[in-house]
Amino acid sequence: MTHHSLALIPGDGIGVDVTHAAIEVLAAVAKGRFTFETKTFPWSCEYYTETGRMMPEDGIDTLRGFDAIYLGAVGWPDTVPDSVSLHGLLLPIRKAFNQYANIRPHRLLEGVEGPLKADGFDILCIRENTEGEYSGAGGRVHEGKDNEVAVETSVFTRAGVERILRFGFEQARNRRKHLTSVTKSNAQKYSMVFWDEVTKELAAEYPEVTVSHMHIDAMAAKMVMAPQDLDVVVASNLFGDILTDLGAAIQGGLGFAASANINPDRSAPSMFEPVHGSAPDIAGKNIANPIAAIWSLAQMLEHLGEADAAEAVLSAIEAATAKGIGIRPGLNSTEDITAAVIAALEA
Ligand code: NAD
Repeated sequence: MTHHSLALIPGDGIGVDVTHAAIEVLAAVAKGRFTFETKTFPWSCEYYTETGRMMPEDGIDTLRGFDAIYLGAVGWPDTVPDSVSLHGLLLPIRKAFNQYANIRPHRLLEGVEGPLKADGFDILCIRENTEGEYSGAGGRVHEGKDNEVAVETSVFTRAGVERILRFGFEQARNRRKHLTSVTKSNAQKYSMVFWDEVTKELAAEYPEVTVSHMHIDAMAAKMVMAPQDLDVVVASNLFGDILTDLGAAIQGGLGFAASANINPDRSAPSMFEPVHGSAPDIAGKNIANPIAAIWSLAQMLEHLGEADAAEAVLSAIEAATAKGIGIRPGLNSTEDITAAVIAALEA
């Protein structure tokens, strides 16, 4: 049997609850299929309060030896500014391990009612994850003075843009063969025009894939008005970040939105996490929906070569929601939803 070694970073708030849920499901699906071991790291805002760091100096080196990283959610704005928690843990991991493809599926699970009339959509959103608007390049001068200046520079490299678009084309080729590239090239005349040009260059290599170019504002409207027309969507770091919260909304809420941070060349571990954050408003109440986290677990299994287990987890999630379990916020407890998924797995 294949053995997988996994690093767990439950993080803050509901991140801890949903990680626990995902690992319970992992234990159930592993039976007879594969073996695994986990090592849990307490890196979180609480850890920051105690140590002054979100993770130790050698945190990246420590994680490098694992087959995959599973993360709950990080952030506790009452004690640590979000800019510190994000830039101290999540973003460094994504960048250090070249997890440049952030994959987020958006479709309605059986039994789940979204806010739209449309229900037959199945979108795979691919967000660039290491550069663009979140490159971290910038600075502030004359802080606190009348002439204060803040500059934040978007960084788009040929290598970075080409590889994320190529990843998108490969995904589209294996799905419904349509790719939508999202930019704002009417207003951003350097980076986004460049992105459009690279899209056109690559399109020539994938004649079986049809390509649409859309501006982010029109794309936001389309995801509400006609999401069923979309297949693979590729967007920059910022645009992908925003669009995937919209994607989460149309699929019933953040409790259903899964996410994988993939290093496609497998030179370093990939990281799997739900789209949602630590949800301080419901932390400790046992009402967080673990489905997004369990779906992210399925993405991890797929990446680890356990396609059969991944499929089993997805079917079990859908068997639970088809029975009406976990389909609305607060309807069932985190534990009950997890138990229903495990029962469906073991049925
Ligand atoms: P959030 O995703 O934590 O919560 C937004 C809303 O959705 C809240 O009302 C919350 O109760 C609800 N919600 C989220 N997940 C849910 C679930 N599984 N089940 C039921 N309801 C759910 O976003 P936020 O409030 O903007 O951020 C809270 C903290 O999380 C911040 O510190 C933020 O920086 C952080 N954050 C972390 C990540 C991450 O670790 N990947 C992602 C987003 C936000």
